[in-house]
Amino acid sequence: MDLLHAVATGIAPPLCAACGRSCRAEAVVCTRCGRRLAGAEPLLSKGPPGLDRAWSSAPHEGVARGLVSALKFRRLLPVADLMADRIQWLAPAHVLSGPIVPVPPAPARLRRRGFDPAGELAAALAERLGTPLESCLVRRGSRRQVGRRRAERLGQPPRIHASGIAPRSVLLVDDVLTTGATMSACAQALRAAGAARVVAVTFSRRL
Ligand SMILES: [Zn+2]
Repeated sequence: MDLLHAVATGIAPPLCAACGRSCRAEAVVCTRCGRRLAGAEPLLSKGPPGLDRAWSSAPHEGVARGLVSALKFRRLLPVADLMADRIQWLAPAHVLSGPIVPVPPAPARLRRRGFDPAGELAAALAERLGTPLESCLVRRGSRRQVGRRRAERLGQPPRIHASGIAPRSVLLVDDVLTTGATMSACAQALRAAGAARVVAVTFSRRL
């Protein structure tokens, strides 16, 4: 399809979600980015305190980082499907067990963005695995921060609690694992609500 025809029919030529170059119709990323992402090595570790395991499909760099931004800031929902596909293909079976609990968004961010990237990824993954999605964690806004030093504010753990009884074995899902403070707070809240095993899965992990 040439560009004039595309403009005339109102169909924009498809663009790669990671690099912005044109790509195949219905593809989320171009061939080059797809190949780079395929070469990224998944990571498995004990993870932040409170978790039994943390698995991520790729380091948070290059194409993986571009995709996290595309979902978070440009709201490109097909990216959540691509992330879920990659997790389903690559994560070991012992990691992908138990009901899925998404890491809850900070209320201010949810208001500002109008959607929740971790929730979208968790829903896409639950659909693929045929596992229940149990959004049982709630995050409260941070306390008044005015006049507090930045270092102090950053050191504050997120305030997360469970809204009911947590599943015994939980698959905790987020788009990216950064410092691990949020994951640890989630794990603590889940264990307090009855979880005995908490495994975290994220699309990418900051090294
Ligand atoms: Zn690309």
